[in-house]
Amino acid sequence: MARRRTGPTDTVRDLVFQRDGGCCVRCGSLHRLTIHHRVNRGMGGAREVWINQAHNLLLACEVCNGWFEDNPKPSYEAGWKVRRPQLPDKVEVRYADGRVYRLTPDGVRTAVVGAAR
Ligand SMILES: [Zn+2]
Repeated sequence: MARRRTGPTDTVRDLVFQRDGGCCVRCGSLHRLTIHHRVNRGMGGAREVWINQAHNLLLACEVCNGWFEDNPKPSYEAGWKVRRPQLPDKVEVRYADGRVYRLTPDGVRTAVVGAAR
């Protein structure tokens, strides 16, 4: 049979695309979009269920996806990356609209009122 998939399902990808408005969370680009993992998949793929759930995923263009890896400090500060053992539903995310959101596993984002970073 096919090898084990380690990425999110198509359903979850669609959910993330809709939630993030079809544009990159950092720069707002509509092009060359990829699914970015906030907590990196560890060695050997996704052992934890939440790794491939919507709150651990962001829509990001290829440029920003590379930028996150090259600039970990600001990426952690903005919530684009999350450092273990923190969990992605506990860390708020800054979006390209300048607002800060909290994400849930079922693909909902809620603006955090009064948050400033
Ligand atoms: Zn981008």
